[in-house]
Amino acid sequence: MNPELLILFVDSMPFALLPRTEWMRQAPEAWSIRPGFGYSVNIHAEMFAGLLPDDVGYFGEWTYDPPRSPGWRYRRLLPLLDALFRPYLLNRGLQTLLTRNYHPGTIVPNIPLRHLDKFALTGRHLLDDPTAFPHPSIFTTYEALTFLPIPALPKGERDKAVFEEVMRRLRAGEATLFAPFPDLDGFGHRYGIEAAPYLDYLRRLDAWLGAIIERFTAEHPRGHLFIVSDHGMVTVKEGVSLALEREIGPSSSATYVAFSDANLLRVWVMDERLRAPIAAYLRAFAGGRLVTEVERREYGITDPRFGDFIFVLEEGLAFEPSTFARHKPKGMHGYHPEAPGQQAVCLHWGPAWQGAPLRRMRDLYRMFVQVLEGRW
Ligand SMILES: [Zn+2]
Repeated sequence: MNPELLILFVDSMPFALLPRTEWMRQAPEAWSIRPGFGYSVNIHAEMFAGLLPDDVGYFGEWTYDPPRSPGWRYRRLLPLLDALFRPYLLNRGLQTLLTRNYHPGTIVPNIPLRHLDKFALTGRHLLDDPTAFPHPSIFTTYEALTFLPIPALPKGERDKAVFEEVMRRLRAGEATLFAPFPDLDGFGHRYGIEAAPYLDYLRRLDAWLGAIIERFTAEHPRGHLFIVSDHGMVTVKEGVSLALEREIGPSSSATYVAFSDANLLRVWVMDERLRAPIAAYLRAFAGGRLVTEVERREYGITDPRFGDFIFVLEEGLAFEPSTFARHKPKGMHGYHPEAPGQQAVCLHWGPAWQGAPLRRMRDLYRMFVQVLEGRW
């Protein structure tokens, strides 16, 4: 018999905001879950497939990989084009033109023309299509679990459609289901988590979840209902700018290369003489710190292709500009996994968990496996 299991995934629901909800806060069991380092592309692989970045072979969506970059075939022209197209909008316009056939549907981040021959898209989002993800996950291993995809609707309109679909399936007697609620994340990035539009949306989403909770727990008192998230979200208070090139010298594939996401910086060093000055510059940079070797082992990010240096900002700061975006977002996640605002949720309705306390994303994967194999 198929397990009675409903997994509701809420992108970016912070554990810290549970007290602001009516329904989620009432979960009989609630664990604060530490995310992995980085962003969803890696955290989802850990949560639904039990795999750390070292296991999947990528860390972040973009990485230093010149031959697979969108600008590789224009590499000899790029320095000249960069010099000719100095004004930002022109530079960005030509970048868009040169990259329009590169992985259609993905946004090429804020990479200056002269660096367009360095970074390539590597990560694969498991929730986009679990059958295209190159590893087994709970969605491909357990056929009983119905996977609802993220609807192809505008951002902000998807959660309501998912809610209606879940209710429709519950009414039809289905009870082994995974459903993603992706929209809270965008409200967080756009407004920060203290602003009224974000909190209003959280209340709206919480009410939809409440209706599902009521229905599922009434009909399946021995079933398992989970609400899980991949990480938290904090309001960005301040932008900080890097001066690597001013301090260290020009970046190139012969010297060093840096890619900054909103709050995570990776540096690849080719000229060994630059290693010590780069380390010194980053150690002295206020507002963040280098990720240590011990941490890289703990979080499964030891692969040297992930960068010689990984540097993370303190919660509430963001690089402005970054290689990812020209301006900082109003809210962000992807800070140090121990930081208080980054903690994710695992909420449970159903027979109590007997195992060790759940702490990290991999624990959730193992727990889902236990339910799906009928051992809980
Ligand atoms: Zn996000």
